[in-house]
Amino acid sequence: MEKYVPDLYQKNIYSIKYENLVRRGIKFLVFDLDNTIALITEKHASEDAIKVFKKLKEMNFKIMIASNSLSTRVKVFAKELGIDYMSNCRKPKAKELEKFILSSGYKLSEIAIIGDSMLDDVVCGNRIGITTILTDQLGKKEFLPAYFKRQKEKKIQKKLRDHNLFTKGRYYE
Ligand SMILES: [Mg+2]
Repeated sequence: MEKYVPDLYQKNIYSIKYENLVRRGIKFLVFDLDNTIALITEKHASEDAIKVFKKLKEMNFKIMIASNSLSTRVKVFAKELGIDYMSNCRKPKAKELEKFILSSGYKLSEIAIIGDSMLDDVVCGNRIGITTILTDQLGKKEFLPAYFKRQKEKKIQKKLRDHNLFTKGRYYE
């Protein structure tokens, strides 16, 4: 069950205390896109997203998007936010993403993955051995594969709650 439990849990990318990540030694942030940075109905980065990524760059974080969506969607956001990206990631598969992020020269202890999916983002990050940060999903609408995963996630979260390992809405860092 531990593979599902994130190191940190926050409401969204705007409520994460990035200064505390700096203190933890995190230098490289790997963001999920759908329902983490943007609603699935959005085709462009929001003003708020642009603002937070500008701040993160000023804080000297290396940042990228790692998304299971196709390049046609992901590259638009990456360009607007001025960051690197990997599309069609197939999270929670970890091998390719691990290779990609480690090619940057950062240590595992310096990297965090941030996303709204326990089954994709958290499991992937825990497999790689990097810091995992779960957020709530930005919107209720999901792409179909994510929708089915969410149903499974609900069952897992019930088990996690029963074992006192994770409770939705109880944020921590
Ligand atoms: Mg997502």
